[in-house]
Amino acid sequence: MNRKENILIIGAGLCGSLLALRLGQRGYDITLVEKRPDLRKVKQDAGRSINLAFSDRGVKAMRMVGLEEEVKKLCLPMLGRMIHDKQGNKFMSPYSGNKEKYINSISRPGLNMILLDAAEKLPNVRLIFNQSCESVDLKNTRATFKDYFTKEKSELTADYIFGTDGSGSAVRNNMFTEKQLRLSFSIDWLTHSYKELTIPAMENGGFRTDNNALHIWPRGENMLIALPNLDGSFTVTLFLSHETGADNFEKLNSPEKVLEYFEREFPDAKALMPNLVEEFFENPTGSLGTVKCFPWSTYKKTLIIGDAAHAIVPFYGQGMNASFEDVVVLDKYIEKYDGDWKTIFSEYQKERKVDADAIADLAIDNFSEMKEHTANPLFQQKRKLEIAFEDNYPKRYNSKYSLVTFNEDIPYSVAMRRGRAQDKAILNLLDNDKLTEDMGLKEKLDLVLNETKNILQDDDVAKNL
Ligand SMILES: Cc1cc2nc3c(=O)[nH]c(=O)nc-3n(C[C@H](O)[C@H](O)[C@H](O)COP(=O)(O)OP(=O)(O)OC[C@H]3O[C@@H](n4cnc5c(N)ncnc54)[C@H](O)[C@@H]3O)c2cc1C
Repeated sequence: MNRKENILIIGAGLCGSLLALRLGQRGYDITLVEKRPDLRKVKQDAGRSINLAFSDRGVKAMRMVGLEEEVKKLCLPMLGRMIHDKQGNKFMSPYSGNKEKYINSISRPGLNMILLDAAEKLPNVRLIFNQSCESVDLKNTRATFKDYFTKEKSELTADYIFGTDGSGSAVRNNMFTEKQLRLSFSIDWLTHSYKELTIPAMENGGFRTDNNALHIWPRGENMLIALPNLDGSFTVTLFLSHETGADNFEKLNSPEKVLEYFEREFPDAKALMPNLVEEFFENPTGSLGTVKCFPWSTYKKTLIIGDAAHAIVPFYGQGMNASFEDVVVLDKYIEKYDGDWKTIFSEYQKERKVDADAIADLAIDNFSEMKEHTANPLFQQKRKLEIAFEDNYPKRYNSKYSLVTFNEDIPYSVAMRRGRAQDKAILNLLDNDKLTEDMGLKEKLDLVLNETKNILQDDDVAKNL
């Protein structure tokens, strides 16, 4: 099916590549422009989020474009969180009571390459690299680019422009500076920054620790996590306060201090990281923040999508999954309103904004859960109960984590509302000793569901006041 519109997509990361592929499959004439070199031809920079947690919302998007099986080959299943305490003890906390449900560790460049390869195969998709978008004339859908090597400027004009240029989006910045567009914009920086490190593979290519889990070393204020890679290594990420608290990035300014900190807080992980000091000082320290803005569409001709519209902190492992889901939701409206882009953009942003806000807030909640609560006895009791509910009554109970991660047809906003009410119900009941040893599991579940219903009803009453 050949469509007449020509579409410019700015940013060939995960979201832009998927969008180019999908719109290409629908027959539009696509130009995808990226400021970096073609990642299929150059080595990835060290320290740039090498692997990611990929789950059901992302899988749904891959299914939509026919790449589910190919992408599966890059996936390493992670069945739960492996929690490590300071003494070197560890225990596994499954992600779900349903053993079929798990998340995956996936290589960011590997996934990006599959999407670029598939998009490039389409005769109506053109890829351009090393061209950084400098500005966009939003009214006339014309963008100016600067060549990385020659520094020469050039322009591209299109019928429609999509900004998929990530959290620091140049397209969004243009929307913001045109005051009459009244773009509301906020960025909330997290107190914590991150640094990527490595647990290398063993000499025979094997893993140095369990490869079917997402490892967490929760330490109250700060934490370390590790996700496995197909080559036997793990990408380790330290989330540490930037400048406040007893330990922070500013204080870790010498090899001795880094070694002392890791020996004190993460001795078992340190033993697996022979290149800790070199990597700590060579790899960049990244900032983390939540970007919220609205509207996402201007002059009914330009739309920002993915991180450009809603960057979130990485603690739910959902930023990429949400950006992929953006494309699925947009595609639904393209199908429904065939060629009526004004309605497509307005319906899309109306539906999607509430869900983007929900996952942004859930991701902040999960920061506390991962660094503090995973080690808390009440939280562990709650998780044990939820796992038993999901195992024995899969049709009646899904934890908040499962609603967000394994229920791709439930919008984030619905998952958040129901999941938060359930959490509150279980924690209240546990705290008030209402879930006693002598009760059967079904009796406990009935009580939790009833309490959840009451909380949701109270929420509704409060909302309608
Ligand atoms: C430490 C960390 C860990 C994360 N872990 C997870 C996880 O486990 N699971 C998960 O789902 N998500 C995770 N995320 C979030 C995920 O990385 C993002 O949500 C996802 O990359 C968003 O995709 P995007 O295409 O919108 O943006 P990006 O991936 O940032 O892609 C934007 C692209 O636009 C290009 N670009 C930028 N500016 C310009 C310009 N001016 N001109 C042309 N091109 C431009 C960039 O070079 C890039 O290729 C994590 C993020 C971080 C920081």
